[in-house]
Amino acid sequence: MRGVVMYAPGDVRVEEREDAKIVEPTDAVIRVTAACICGSDLWPYRGIEALNGPTPMGHEYIGIVEQIGDDVRDIKVGDYVVGSFVASDNTCEICRAGYQSRCVHNVMMGSVGTQAQLARIPLADGTLVATPGAPDADLVPSLLAASDVLGTGWFAAVAAEAGPGKTIAVVGDGAVGLSAVLAAKQLGAERIIAFSRHPERQALAREFGATDIIEERGDAGAARVKELTGGYGAHGVVEAVGTEESMWQAINSARPGGYVGYVGVTHGVKLDGLDLFFTGVHLHGGPAPVRRFLPELIQLIWDRAIDPGKVFDLTLPLEDAAEGYRAMDERRATKVLLTL
Ligand SMILES: [Zn+2]
Repeated sequence: MRGVVMYAPGDVRVEEREDAKIVEPTDAVIRVTAACICGSDLWPYRGIEALNGPTPMGHEYIGIVEQIGDDVRDIKVGDYVVGSFVASDNTCEICRAGYQSRCVHNVMMGSVGTQAQLARIPLADGTLVATPGAPDADLVPSLLAASDVLGTGWFAAVAAEAGPGKTIAVVGDGAVGLSAVLAAKQLGAERIIAFSRHPERQALAREFGATDIIEERGDAGAARVKELTGGYGAHGVVEAVGTEESMWQAINSARPGGYVGYVGVTHGVKLDGLDLFFTGVHLHGGPAPVRRFLPELIQLIWDRAIDPGKVFDLTLPLEDAAEGYRAMDERRATKVLLTL
């Protein structure tokens, strides 16, 4: 099968890989119908995260089930499926509490590499959710978004306690941040403040439900949120970047007693305990339990109530994945969809 392999920072190749196959009886193998490049794939691409030799890439996927292991009961060959970027059994206590991304048996899908024609999905029954049928072509980008960025933005908005009457600020205008704006709107937030300096992303944020845009960053950005909220700060803030500056921007944008939903994979963030202590905010985040939200998100997409697929602004065939990485690295694209 053809698949994406990263050899070194900046060196992405599409090459022949061994066909995915059933290894454990709880596995399924899917024929991937669309995959994409994640903002987190840029960390190794930029050399910020170490690579351990040539690495198959990709953890977002939708596709059609081709094979199932002997112990797979619910998922069937021929099902059109969406899954999370973390495989989970969906039966342990952590899963049942809604934290499937930290399942005691979790498998990070990045270790599988879903930017490929075929993908092995561990714990298929717990990981995959079948759609009501084969989707219309225009629903494919949105279903793919549900696999990671939408589910992650949704979790962040839930963790930020978005709801009626609430003011929610969103740090990060990438695909996850924009999805969090959409989620906050769906969850009923009254006011949604998006931080962004990019005109196109500002426009999409507004389309997704942002009521205010702030271009300042860091302390200046947080100060603007305070100005817009009568000096209080937002009820809840989504952090969707993962740097020290963005984390403090989020924490300082929240009011005492407020909530920060942090989903940006942190790199080099060190929070001073005493500084944190006096903010009095709730911090709730980590790898998003996308599986918790997938059935609801798939239905919203199926009913055309939401259109998160708009975060994709570049579509390329899998064979041109290297150009997709370049475009995202150079910020010519927010999110790249790979067709197969
Ligand atoms: Zn579990």
